[in-house]
Amino acid sequence: MEIFEAKKRYDEITKLLEKWSYEYYVNDNPSVSDSEYDQKYEELLRLEKEFPSLVTRNSLSQRVGGVVLKGFKKVTHERQMLSLADVFNKDELIEWVNKVYEELGKEVDIMCELKIDGLACSLVYNDNHLSYAATRGDGTTGEDVTTNVLTIRNIPTIVNKEGRLEVRGEIYMSKASLDELNEEREKENLPLFANARNAAAGSIRNLDQAVAKSRKLDGWWYYYIDATRDGFSRHSDSLDALDKLGFKTNHERRLAHNLKEILAYVDEYTLKRDDLAYDIDGIVLKVDEFKYYDDLGYTAKTPKWAIAYKFPPKEVSTKLLDIVFTVGRTGKITPNAVLEPVRVAGSLVSRATLHNEDYIKEKDLRVGDTVIIRKAGDIIPEVVSSITSRRDGSELPFEMITKCPYCGSTLIKKDALHFCPNPHCPSRKVETLIHFASKNAMDIEGMGDKVCEQLFNENFLDVIPSIYNLYTHKEEIIEMDGWSNKSVEKLLEAIDNSKKNSLERLIFGLGIKEVGEKMSKTLAKRYKDIDSLANASLEELMEIDDVGEVVAKSIYEYFRNELSQNLIKALKSYNVNTLYLGNTNVNESNFFYNKKCVITGSFERYSRDEISNFIESEGGKTSSSVSKNTNYLILGKDPGSKLEKAKALNVEIIDEEALYKIIDGSK
Ligand code: NAD
Repeated sequence: MEIFEAKKRYDEITKLLEKWSYEYYVNDNPSVSDSEYDQKYEELLRLEKEFPSLVTRNSLSQRVGGVVLKGFKKVTHERQMLSLADVFNKDELIEWVNKVYEELGKEVDIMCELKIDGLACSLVYNDNHLSYAATRGDGTTGEDVTTNVLTIRNIPTIVNKEGRLEVRGEIYMSKASLDELNEEREKENLPLFANARNAAAGSIRNLDQAVAKSRKLDGWWYYYIDATRDGFSRHSDSLDALDKLGFKTNHERRLAHNLKEILAYVDEYTLKRDDLAYDIDGIVLKVDEFKYYDDLGYTAKTPKWAIAYKFPPKEVSTKLLDIVFTVGRTGKITPNAVLEPVRVAGSLVSRATLHNEDYIKEKDLRVGDTVIIRKAGDIIPEVVSSITSRRDGSELPFEMITKCPYCGSTLIKKDALHFCPNPHCPSRKVETLIHFASKNAMDIEGMGDKVCEQLFNENFLDVIPSIYNLYTHKEEIIEMDGWSNKSVEKLLEAIDNSKKNSLERLIFGLGIKEVGEKMSKTLAKRYKDIDSLANASLEELMEIDDVGEVVAKSIYEYFRNELSQNLIKALKSYNVNTLYLGNTNVNESNFFYNKKCVITGSFERYSRDEISNFIESEGGKTSSSVSKNTNYLILGKDPGSKLEKAKALNVEIIDEEALYKIIDGSK
């Protein structure tokens, strides 16, 4: 591969991984499995190995993944909270152990621990008292989540230890608590948590303390920071000391004296995994004696004296009973596997997406086949392959449908995908309502898939504005099965509350093609009200960072469509807020007020997004290309061609040092 091609691929993967990380770390709601994420990340590392010049300070391989949510007080970690390097099979694990032995010139003791699938947390005590609890965040700065952590009863608030004590570990939710929580959520028509990690992270990083309190969280503690200062020479001894201080440490841990013992531990817990009361996603190995830590050293995001062995995704076989089709809000047809229910990685699976016609044909999946199912990363089930040796001739080769199963319209094909072209297709309408009401859009509690479907089938809901007219059917809904006066009132109240949402939720809820949650925020911040966005020219939209031609066109065309214009008019008539309610505290004396900036290169202290957010919070604008209207070029390391262009156009340049002074001065 040529470097040019490699760079293109590298940027593509980075963009994808950043999107997935945002969904995972910010929303606690991943759209892909961990193993899919890990596979892409591995590809990124392979490219870096082959083309080391691709690596910059901002590369994902150099940063601890994670974001600090607004609304929480920030905490700067006195010692960075690093991640762990991963290995995905026994060969890689053996290679790592041998490398450690080789570097240290002998077989050393290695502590084997369970890799708890939760959220990393640091507890800091000063003179016997808990001062604060913080999340890992980006490794340097975390969120102060003390009030939520205090809802975990068995975390000591007072310890028998003078001076400073920092203890790190994992906050998690047991399998039983997750099941209980999901049962309750199902009753209330709320979306279910895909796994215990998301549930724990979503609870600890919730601004409402009552939520954490109701969620039955727990913690396992696995690092005694400053253990050497306190006289310990081994990690194992420091864990015993934590036990004595009142911290819950996990007693499934075991000290291994050689490779054989390590492998035996891995095998044992690969089998025992399902019997544990909590989820684990692998095994962590740590060199036991602290004196070797400096010799082995660190990378930018991981220590070299520890490694995480991640369990391979689980696979089971079952029968493919049928292939059925769903129609999404854009009209996209998705084939789905109907499976004989089978338990995989802790939950019962009876459906799996088959993506599109090509996917099924490539795998040659036939109704009646015995198929292998994998629940990659314990979240999303996928059909891996069919076992052709089990065929008896009765299996049916797959034929793609040609008509929409809901409205009968003839499907149109675009690349590998099929679409129902009918905007009035009932399935598209229901999906549009579901998306509008969903948590990350207008967040109408109680209006999940089933409720939307039911109310649509009863003709109480139709297009989006009908949601705000639902109150006129109150009495009829109360009469329906599964509803009461109280539940209808609760739903109507949630609908009413959604009218007060800030603009970004509305933009996302409209379901404009190519406009995801992050883009909705960018647009809302920039345009402040829906009319300004609707009137934006194509050129103006394309000036926004991250908005390419395809996205700009999609937004532009959406607002020029009469149906969209009527929809917005109708929403306004129901008093749905169309203004941005975020930080509008823009002041003319701000350095970047009314200034057009272009950012180039990488920065030590902030990501480009953060710098761009700062400029916008000051009332400035950022765009991706230098023109004669640009006021400042913000210059980081390894700048691109923008620097030459800025020089040619005499654009004033702000270097990293000057930028940090401006940012620090604004605080
Ligand atoms: P990681 O999950 O690979 O491992 C590091 C973490 O393990 C530590 O920070 C700590 O919190 C935890 N841990 C659990 N038990 C431990 C123990 N006994 N000792 C020490 N640490 C222990 O790394 P990460 O940086 O937290 O997360 C990256 C991973 O998250 C990725 O590999 C991927 O699987 C997942 N991810 C998934 C998505 C997605 O969209 N599905 C997106 C981003 C990240």
